[in-house]
Amino acid sequence: MTSVKAYAAQGAETPLAPFSIDRREPGADDVEIKILYCGVCHSDIHTARNEWGGTIYPAVPGHEIVGTVTRVGNGVTKFKAGDTVGVGCFVDSCMHCANCKNDLEQYCQNGHTQTYNSQSQDKKTITLGGYSSHIVVTQHFVLSVSDKLPLEKVAPLLCAGITTYSPLRHWGVKAGDKLAVVGLGGLGHMAVKLAASMGAEVTMLSRSKSKEKDAAELGAHHFKLTTDKNTMAELANSFNFIIDTVSAPHDYNEYLNLLTTDGVMVLLGAPPEPTAVAAFPFIMGRRSLVGSLVGGIKETQEMLDYCAEHNITSDVEVIGIDKINEAYERTLAGQVHYRFVIDMNTL
Ligand code: NAP
Ligand code: ZN
Repeated sequence: MTSVKAYAAQGAETPLAPFSIDRREPGADDVEIKILYCGVCHSDIHTARNEWGGTIYPAVPGHEIVGTVTRVGNGVTKFKAGDTVGVGCFVDSCMHCANCKNDLEQYCQNGHTQTYNSQSQDKKTITLGGYSSHIVVTQHFVLSVSDKLPLEKVAPLLCAGITTYSPLRHWGVKAGDKLAVVGLGGLGHMAVKLAASMGAEVTMLSRSKSKEKDAAELGAHHFKLTTDKNTMAELANSFNFIIDTVSAPHDYNEYLNLLTTDGVMVLLGAPPEPTAVAAFPFIMGRRSLVGSLVGGIKETQEMLDYCAEHNITSDVEVIGIDKINEAYERTLAGQVHYRFVIDMNTL
């Protein structure tokens, strides 16, 4: 074991604070990584504050990790010391169920191991995430990162990027599709950039008028205020595909009505409380409401390579780790443009 520096939440009500954690010695198949940057996802906040229930303290969040390989086990073939790599939302899975064999480790039928607050596959330890100086991860779950792009802007691709890329690919979004993104935050801004890069006609649906100019700069063709009842009525039957990234409870029925016949609305945002949906928006237009969880390792690598090729990165505000509690408050207040990323050298 190696003791490393981290920032942890000790309870739902307490701010994150410096903490020391143990990392395992790299086994034959392991890659040890010095973390350079870690993005701040809204899931970190849901977890640190136990909003979904089940948080085990001390909790070390962080699953948008970019760093440098420091050591590798003798069975590691994919990486060597000095390589630039990434780690996303999960670090292990059973590797033998149908989903793992089909590059869908995030839907591992035996339970995948998330990067933090999750049981390891040996069922003995709880994972601790990227708000730390080092992490040790089995090679299959480590991604190659191109040195071509600024690394602080690449970090959010490991969650916000793949979470939005995967449904765009799975549901075959293509040039000419009319697509709406609900909520302009970390996930939302990546959804706009990626969907626009694939040729979709993108409409930003936001409750924040102040984000209109940014939405256009990110690549959205239209901007509509969701707080305006007339606007929402006018938008009925407008979109083939809606990506919902909102982190707080909201009325899905309002958005389902904006879908065309056979339109699909995908839930990415994970509000802690359930919301009732009526049968009629589905029946009247043969519409679908679906969900999607991040993306598999193969698809995450494909997304990183796609972003490197198309020069797509996240719009970030780099912070020192001592500003993490302030960053949470600003995220909750919608004051992030559009992802906080921690410079881990400040730990
Ligand atoms: P974020 O940066 O905080 O963005 C969320 C956006 O939702 C806000 O910018 C805001 O956009 C809108 N919003 C927030 N509160 C709202 C409210 N009360 N009513 C209406 N709109 C509201 O969060 P994020 O990091 O993008 O994460 C978004 C959600 O996705 C979280 O629940 C997170 O846990 C979840 N998530 C899911 C996956 C997955 O695999 N499915 C992966 C990562 C994260 P406007 O101001 O434009 O309205
Ligand atoms: Zn995330």
